[in-house]
Amino acid sequence: MRDGQGRVIDYLRLSVTDRCNLRCTYCMPPEGVEWLPHTQILSYEQILRLCRVFAGLGLHRIRLTGGEPLARKDLDQLVAGLKAISGIDHVAVTTNGTLLAEQLPVLRSAGLDTVNISLDTLDRAQFAAITRRDALEDTLTGLEAALAMPGLTVKLNCVPTADNADQWVPLAELARAQTLSVRFIELMPIGMGGGLPGIVEAELRARLEEALGPLHPCEGDPGGGPCRYFRPAGFTGRIGFISAMTHQFCSTCNRVRLTATGFLKTCLQYEKGVELRPLLDAGVGDEVLRAAMVQAIAEKPIQHHFGQGARQQDERHNMNQIGG
Ligand code: SAM
Ligand code: SF4
Repeated sequence: MRDGQGRVIDYLRLSVTDRCNLRCTYCMPPEGVEWLPHTQILSYEQILRLCRVFAGLGLHRIRLTGGEPLARKDLDQLVAGLKAISGIDHVAVTTNGTLLAEQLPVLRSAGLDTVNISLDTLDRAQFAAITRRDALEDTLTGLEAALAMPGLTVKLNCVPTADNADQWVPLAELARAQTLSVRFIELMPIGMGGGLPGIVEAELRARLEEALGPLHPCEGDPGGGPCRYFRPAGFTGRIGFISAMTHQFCSTCNRVRLTATGFLKTCLQYEKGVELRPLLDAGVGDEVLRAAMVQAIAEKPIQHHFGQGARQQDERHNMNQIGG
């Protein structure tokens, strides 16, 4: 469907849990957070019902996120249920990769199309400092398993900061000989990210070009999202930039989010949207759910205002509760 600005909305980011086994500095506070009680989290049955209605509105690509989505039990059953919905043609997952190697075979059998692995560094001590957990080996094993899985699209997401500056080039190098997209995501001032200095694309790009040579745009290959892709000479894979701060992409935004508690969130920066859980609890029919979704999507905010001070209805939750 189209929102009030005429943008086609066809992509849903679906958070299945707020829980996570890592504590990334830009995502969660050092003391951790109090997890939502299980009773507040949508069941798979409820999620699938909502997704059938979303699919009827033309949302055909779904990304599972969290918290750590693989920390939720039997995620493969959700993937299989989503793939069985008429109209849904792509199911992806964004994960820290630590639990991926053991779960990938069943997730792939269930129909998983794409895996995005978040990895900010290849240095063990740096990984432990950024994620507050000594788990680099687990993530690398997950990445290896994903790259070895036939037919699976694999992407790597890195948030560039001063803390991992010596790792931007080694991470980009992973795309040299493998069919892998290494994407750099500008730090956004959401939750814990608000207090941290981010690195802007221009600085990162200069460093990459110094080491790898010119980055040539991958023409006609937008990848269905806000990422702009480039390929240095001699590379099999691609380098991507998702730069909400310095290259705002709100005018072509195609997405909405569903939180683990059932809030349909229509913009990353705002707490704008509609609580669908009370409607489910009240036993309403699909047409009532559909009307609530249509109204919320019609009112999707025009754009974010990162870096321009606080406003009413700004998002106050941490990224683990939103899904990134
Ligand atoms: N746990 C999974 C993971 O880390 O991939 C999925 C959830 S995580 C919230 C989704 C993505 O959001 C990750 O790639 C993470 O690096 C990114 N992220 C978290 N906080 C961020 C922030 N403040 N700015 C930009 N990206 C952020
Ligand atoms: Fe967990 Fe992902 Fe947040 Fe890191 S970014 S703490 S892995 S939810």
